Amino acid sequence: MSALLSVQNLEVNYGAIRALRGVTLNVQPGETVAVIGANGAGKSTLMRTLSGLLRPTAGSAVFGDMDLSKAAPHVIAKGGLLHIPEGRGTLGRLTVAENLRIAFDRDPAATAGESFEDACERVFARFPRLKERLKQAAGSMSGGEQQQLAMARPLLAKPKLLMLDEPSLGLSPVMVSTVFSVLRELRDAGMTILIVEQNARAALKLSHRAYVLKQGRMVHEGESASLLADNSVLSHYLGA
Ligand code: ATP
Repeated sequence: MSALLSVQNLEVNYGAIRALRGVTLNVQPGETVAVIGANGAGKSTLMRTLSGLLRPTAGSAVFGDMDLSKAAPHVIAKGGLLHIPEGRGTLGRLTVAENLRIAFDRDPAATAGESFEDACERVFARFPRLKERLKQAAGSMSGGEQQQLAMARPLLAKPKLLMLDEPSLGLSPVMVSTVFSVLRELRDAGMTILIVEQNARAALKLSHRAYVLKQGRMVHEGESASLLADNSVLSHYLGA
């Protein structure tokens, strides 16, 4: 099977800082893949590069038949790659209802056949709070509520590839388990997911395969179950 996402020897710099130093990874259709690494390893840089917000200085990143190193962010999003950044990525000045509408409209091909109202009812069954807050500006909601709005996006848009940057960051334990239960549901429904997390244990439990990123380099790759079973790799690379 050919990979949905194929990244080869990717190099990304911020001026003199070499944030990614030859990163290679691939994600097959239907796979959930985790990238774990400590603070500053380059996880967010990787995500921002794959969604077209940063340009690599070398290497390649291909999603289906799209060259992510050249395509504009809105073209990448329209092509079915949904990036939920650290800090949720909701549109703070717009209402919850407007955010939901934009999420639904993003990829008409994926949502064909289902009305906006029906799609929202699926989301409200999972996150009833959003239904109560439809007219509220997204930016005035609590962090946990904003993460619920962020998690509504893949439920509505059914992306080809869902990329999440630290979805557990800053959330209460209850909200973390809600987010991961939605992700398990999406994984089990066959969605292709790439998740970066400092919370290695949660990401490994969710994913089929994982990569360990350290100081801009991929230092390990393996089945998530075996990484979970053998703590020595994680403690070696992450001190976890
Ligand atoms: P964290 O888990 O703390 O968010 P991360 O793994 O996502 O970390 P990145 O944010 O990708 O790491 O940062 C990788 C490296 O690039 C770090 O050394 C960071 O200081 C540096 N870096 C990130 N953004 C910039 C920037 N805009 N300008 C300069 N250096 C940057």
